[in-house]
Amino acid sequence: MFDAIIIGAGAAGLFCAAQAGQRGLKVLLIDHAAKVAEKIRISGGGRCNFTNRDLDVRAPHKHFVGQNPQFCRSALSRFTPADFIALMDKHGIAHHEKHKGQLFADRSAEDIIAMLLAECADGGVQHWQPCQVKSIDVSPSGSDGGESYQIETERGRVQTPNLVIASGGLSIPKIGASDFGYRLAQQFRLPLVERTPGLVPLTFDGASWQPYAELAGLALPVEISTGSKKERVSFHEDLLFTHRGLSGPAVLQISSYWKPGTPLQINLLPGVDMAQVLSEAKLHSRKLVANELAAHLPARLADAWVARMPELQRPINEAGDKALLRLAERLMRWEITPTGTEGYKKAEVTLGGVDTKVLSQQSMECKTQPGLFFIGEVVDITGWLGGYNFQWAWASAHACAQAMAEKQSNLP
Ligand SMILES: Cc1cc2nc3c(=O)[nH]c(=O)nc-3n(C[C@H](O)[C@H](O)[C@H](O)COP(=O)(O)OP(=O)(O)OC[C@H]3O[C@@H](n4cnc5c(N)ncnc54)[C@H](O)[C@@H]3O)c2cc1C
Repeated sequence: MFDAIIIGAGAAGLFCAAQAGQRGLKVLLIDHAAKVAEKIRISGGGRCNFTNRDLDVRAPHKHFVGQNPQFCRSALSRFTPADFIALMDKHGIAHHEKHKGQLFADRSAEDIIAMLLAECADGGVQHWQPCQVKSIDVSPSGSDGGESYQIETERGRVQTPNLVIASGGLSIPKIGASDFGYRLAQQFRLPLVERTPGLVPLTFDGASWQPYAELAGLALPVEISTGSKKERVSFHEDLLFTHRGLSGPAVLQISSYWKPGTPLQINLLPGVDMAQVLSEAKLHSRKLVANELAAHLPARLADAWVARMPELQRPINEAGDKALLRLAERLMRWEITPTGTEGYKKAEVTLGGVDTKVLSQQSMECKTQPGLFFIGEVVDITGWLGGYNFQWAWASAHACAQAMAEKQSNLP
């Protein structure tokens, strides 16, 4: 018999277990994988981008995607990036800011895992892992009118009035991701928002990608956009050409908004009026058009664009005005339609998940199923690249732990 049982010892599960344990709850944390927090370990290139200073808790829609991004406002405002930074400081884990508010551990993501485990030990959390959950049943517990969850596991049967699902999303199945949380939601007839890979490279079919495949490895800053005029979303980030398509922060960010069948618009020269630059160059320069372009773009990219316009394979002073204008437009408004994504093998997150309509934004408890909580990525809340997903994991875990502790303290 435990006060709380948490399934999934990733970012959200570990933090929730520690917070609940430190508030006096008897907590069991179960994970089917032998190693906990594998995603923290591999995140941020091994240094874990653990939060983001630019997070605006009053306007979560700026950095979070889902049917109702406002849902995360309460949890995010009660456990902020500053709170997690304070915890890092308490444990003496040095960190630094990189780009756009992104905070990383100086040494290794392992330090953050060790910190979370130490926090769990402080709260007297019991760990069962690897341990498969075989089934979950619920029955009225009687006295307080709540529910009692019976969890059948490989290590035996356990029982709790508070069951927390922190089993994450579907990305990177080879390190333990599973659809456990979604199946459990279905068992309790909770609505799910369709799941798709997010923060994922985009792919193009072989023939249409052929002209660009030779650019694999090339990176440059761009402005990338998608969506109709009314709901247009844009990012200024780096774009990376790959053998199968496009990646890099620009594409990972836009992938969370991209709808299959729709195009992306890419400005390869943000902040530069290329039509103006080329027409001025035509007056003074006798360089080849490709060489003139290479002053503003990587030379390989300049060559590839000009190679598709035979009328521009000449000195710029001999090039036609209309052709130069067309070139400028193709660079500043490159429109291309992906055929798909690299899928869960490469995605950093899963979009969609347990519909926030059925969850309390204060506690993460299910409105139709008392005592059942969903936290972290399994919920239909997805952050931007840049530490927002971990901040959601910490904040939703904190809200849940706080609510379970309050519930416990109100028991007769
Ligand atoms: C390569 C990569 C890099 C990333 N980098 C960053 C970053 O730098 N910053 C950032 O904010 N986000 C990053 N993310 C996203 C971030 O890792 C996740 O959003 C975050 O880990 C979600 O936390 P969670 O606790 O909900 O799920 P997870 O951390 O995925 O934890 C889920 C846990 O549940 C366990 N589990 C699954 N199924 C079962 C089951 N059936 N029974 C028992 N246990 C189960 C898993 O083994 C796992 O331990 C990255 C993701 C990837 C894949």
